[in-house]
Amino acid sequence: MIIHTATFEGSFTQVSKLPETSLPEYAFVGRSNVGKSSLINLLTSNKKLAKVSGTPGKTQCINYFLINGKWHLVDLPGYGYARVSQKKRAEWASLYKQYLTKRPHLVNVFVLIDVRIPPQKIDLEFINNLGEWQIPFSLVFTKTDKLKENACQKNIQLFLNTLSETWEMPPPYFLSSAVNQVGKTEILAYIDQCNAELMGEDFLNS
Ligand code: GDP
Repeated sequence: MIIHTATFEGSFTQVSKLPETSLPEYAFVGRSNVGKSSLINLLTSNKKLAKVSGTPGKTQCINYFLINGKWHLVDLPGYGYARVSQKKRAEWASLYKQYLTKRPHLVNVFVLIDVRIPPQKIDLEFINNLGEWQIPFSLVFTKTDKLKENACQKNIQLFLNTLSETWEMPPPYFLSSAVNQVGKTEILAYIDQCNAELMGEDFLNS
């Protein structure tokens, strides 16, 4: 897939305010600072579409984009930001639950995992919630440029092994690097494939 247009449609703090749509929706989520904004900018070839920040925890809204007029890219707030009150955390948890359980056209959630960091409880809990709510998801291991290839593979294997304690089948996964522009082709091809299965090839080519 080539992204010709990526249009920002708004920032929302309430799921009920999100645009109604019949188009497929793909959400991106992960711990603060995992590289989500950088990945979204890489996918859309737009350096400024999502705001890259050195300060974790900035994005607290759901940012909603229309891609090629055919599907929505949804930038969910980062989770697991340490310096945030219990109240704020509870609000975010409620926002995720509402978004993830109330969007009929949500096709897939890309859960971003920093490839350098060993499996974190908060990521595993988030993934287990997706399982409970029966939301399809895939993993994106980010910042792969920061490790040698075999160290990346070792960490990915460790993460998948940890998941296998609760999941029978490993989820699809991707490797990404915003620095080396890795992962874009594979992730967009996956979205293309899902869209073609859902909407038909004709819709995508129209
Ligand atoms: P977000 O909070 O998840 O949206 O993360 P950002 O995209 O804002 O990135 C957080 C920090 O990690 C920034 O300093 C980025 O420049 C850096 N970063 C993001 N992706 C990569 C990557 O693939 N490789 C490297 N080396 N740094 C990255």
